Amino acid sequence: MRVAEGIHALKIPFRLPAGPDNFLERFVYCYLVCGDTVCLIDSGVAGSQEIIFDYLASIGRKPEDISILVLTHSHPDHMGAAHAIREATACTVAAHLSEKNWIEDIDLQFRERPVAGFETLVAAPVKVDRVLKDGDVLGLGGGFDMEVFHTPGHSRGSLSLFLRKQKVLFCADAVLLPGQLPIYDDNEACVRSVNKLKYMRGVEILLSSWDEPKRGPEVLRALDESLIFLRSIQRAVFEVINEYPTADLMAMCGQVVRIMGLPPAALNPLVARSLASSLEKKRPRGH
Ligand SMILES: [Zn+2]
Repeated sequence: MRVAEGIHALKIPFRLPAGPDNFLERFVYCYLVCGDTVCLIDSGVAGSQEIIFDYLASIGRKPEDISILVLTHSHPDHMGAAHAIREATACTVAAHLSEKNWIEDIDLQFRERPVAGFETLVAAPVKVDRVLKDGDVLGLGGGFDMEVFHTPGHSRGSLSLFLRKQKVLFCADAVLLPGQLPIYDDNEACVRSVNKLKYMRGVEILLSSWDEPKRGPEVLRALDESLIFLRSIQRAVFEVINEYPTADLMAMCGQVVRIMGLPPAALNPLVARSLASSLEKKRPRGH
């Protein structure tokens, strides 16, 4: 889907195992920014290169036009096809330093963050050729200069990218969708990052990995709703642990899912682990 001149969104469907015969239908957005050269933002899951290359052909570009693949972070739905894309295009693979280990060593990633179906989502590890940090600018030619923002919280090295001239912001997984599965490393860092995006000037289009493109007044609304969602999750976690101080993580997650009215699929170890981040912050302060 064309979002704006030179900017395209590719919605990539995939499935997560959710029981013996059950699957959770998910999707992830990858983005193409087409200047003189092409930047691919995230690779999608294993096999996504076919969708990406077919789309490139439909707009008169070739896979080899991809000069850089920016991995906004290391999660399987963002890096699953990265190896195949690099093999086919010889592009530079770029990511934040904090994500490098999990991108280059997928066994380590799976050990430290076990995701159901991981082996079907990620085809192979890939080497990070270029480490990106807050303030870097990626010039693609043709008037497309992409500014890099470090927006941790969803993961430690999550990146957002801003095309200032085109007024387009790519926020990857940094902006949570209210009512959906809250998955993050650090609730408070998420709040800081969404605030950082909120106070950027001149964003007219917000492109997330989890949501349809937001335009104009919808941009600020999406950021505000995400902040409210993050804070209400934090409150629900504290409410549950005050009431059930001995509850284990999954029981606590179940209570939070109930209080927040989240979908049943939110009762899972990844969400429980996300919610636990609020407790890790709380303990050292002597509560
Ligand atoms: Zn993610």
